[in-house]
Amino acid sequence: MVNDTLDLRQLWQSVLAELELSLSRANFTTWLKHTAIASVDAAVVVVVVPNGFTQTWLKNKYHADILKTLRRLTNNAVSEIVYRIDATATRSGGGMTVTVTTVEKNAPPILTTTPAGAHTNKETEQQPAATDQTGLNAKYVFESFIVGKNNELAYAACRAVAQKPGKVYNPLFIYGGVGLGKTHLLQAIGRAMLAVRPETQVRYITCEQFTNEFVSLVRSGRSKDFKDVYRNADLLLIDDIQFITGKEGTQEELFHTFNTLHQLDKQVVFTSDRPPKAIPGLEQRMLSRFEWGMIADIAMPDVETRKAIIRSKCDERGIKLDDVITNYIASTVQNNIRELEGALNRVVAFHELNGTKPTLESAKSVLSSLTAHSGRRSVTPRQIIMLISQFYDISLEHLTGSSRKKELVMPRQIAMYLLREEAHCSYPSIGHELGGRDHTTAIHAYEKISRCVEADERLRQELQTIRQRLYAG
Ligand code: ADP
Ligand code: MG
Repeated sequence: MVNDTLDLRQLWQSVLAELELSLSRANFTTWLKHTAIASVDAAVVVVVVPNGFTQTWLKNKYHADILKTLRRLTNNAVSEIVYRIDATATRSGGGMTVTVTTVEKNAPPILTTTPAGAHTNKETEQQPAATDQTGLNAKYVFESFIVGKNNELAYAACRAVAQKPGKVYNPLFIYGGVGLGKTHLLQAIGRAMLAVRPETQVRYITCEQFTNEFVSLVRSGRSKDFKDVYRNADLLLIDDIQFITGKEGTQEELFHTFNTLHQLDKQVVFTSDRPPKAIPGLEQRMLSRFEWGMIADIAMPDVETRKAIIRSKCDERGIKLDDVITNYIASTVQNNIRELEGALNRVVAFHELNGTKPTLESAKSVLSSLTAHSGRRSVTPRQIIMLISQFYDISLEHLTGSSRKKELVMPRQIAMYLLREEAHCSYPSIGHELGGRDHTTAIHAYEKISRCVEADERLRQELQTIRQRLYAG
C-alpha cells in the first residue's frame, strides 16, 4: 500500500515535471501545484484537486495534455481521468491554502464560468452609465475584453470572483505590464457584480488615491470617515498597488482594511505592474496577504489576440478595416494595448477627416511617426537612471553611491545593463554615470544581468515592464 502510494506520487510528479515545461509559471502554480493522484483503478486515474475552479480548468484546458503524458508514462495503461474535489487531500501549505478554506465553507459547484473566450454572459449587457460613486468606467466590461493566451488566466479568475465574490479567491492579485488590460478587468468585476446586485457596495480606487485620501483625512482628524467608506465595501478594487511602496501609515491602513473585509468574506482585488514579491518596500505581512489568494499574470498579447482586439474595437465603432491594415497595425504595435488602440484611432481619424478609405500605404504613412517613436526611440542615460530609481524606490544617491547592500546592488546592476542595452553607452561611461565606477564593474554587471535574464522569468518580466515605461514616457 505504502508502495502504491509512493508510486502514485512518483507518477504524478513525473507528469507534473513534464507539464511544467510547457506552462507558464503562474499557470502551473495555480492549476497544478496542489493536485495529486488519489487512486488508479481499472485504468481510471483519480486526480484530486483543491476546488471546483481548478477542476473546471483542468478538465477544459489541460485534460488532453495530462492524459497524453499519463499514457506515455504508463505505457498506455490509463484510459480515463476523473478530477475529484478534495479540499483537504492536496493541502500542502503555501499559495492557495486559505483559498481552499473559503471554498470549503461553500459547497460546490464552485464555478459555472467557461474559461476562455466565452462571451455568453448577460450580466453586464445594457447597463446604464457608470455608477458615479463607484468610479467605474462604462467601457470596461467583460464583454468588450478579448481573451487570448496572454490573459486567459487573469480573465477566468476575474469572472470567477465576480460570480462568487469572497468565496473563490480572496484576495485576487492581477499583475502585468503597462496597457495590458489590468484596469479593464478590475473594473469589469465591479460592473458585473453591480449588474446582478445593484445594491452591492463597490469601491474602485487607485493606490495613489487611497494614499492621498487617507493622508488628508488623517490630517483633518477624519480617519473614521475613511474607515467607514472602505471597510464597509462589499467589493474593494485597488488599482496599481505597486505604489504602496514605502508609505507606512497607508500600508498599515490597507492591512487593517484588508483584514476586516477578508474576515467578512468581502472580496478584495489588487492589480500591480509586477508580482507581489517584486514590490519594493512592501511589508512582509502585506506580502503574505497578497499571496493568500490567487495571483494571475497578464502577459504580452500575441499577434492573433492583437488582431482580435483591433477587430472588436472596429466592430464597436462600426468601422470596416481591410485585413491587411489590421495585420499591419497588429504587427507594428506589439506590447501595449493602449498604444494599439491609439494606432487604430490615428488611422481611423485620419481617414474620417479626409473622407477617404484607408489603404495599407496610407496606414503606413499615418503610423510612421508612431513607429519611429514607440519602436527604438532613443533614451538618455539620465532617463534610465531616473526610472530605475523610481521603479525600485531608491534615491539617486543610493543608486549611484557606494553601499553594497543587496537591495541596492541588483537595481544598480540592472541600471548598468540597461544603459548598455538601451542607450548603447560605453562601459567607461556607464561606470561614470553610476557614481564614478570602474569600467570593469560595468562589464561585470552587464554580464551578470545578461546571465540572470536567461534563467529568471521574473527578472525578464521586470525588465520588460521597465522597458515599457522607458519607451512609454
Ligand atoms: P493597464 O491597466 O494594464 O495599464 P488598461 O486596462 O488601462 O491597462 O488597458 C488599456 C486599454 O486597452 C484600455 O482601453 C482597455 O480597454 C484596452 N484593453 C486591454 N486589454 C484588452 C483586451 N484584452 N481586450 C480589449 N481591450 C483591451
Ligand atoms: Mg491601469
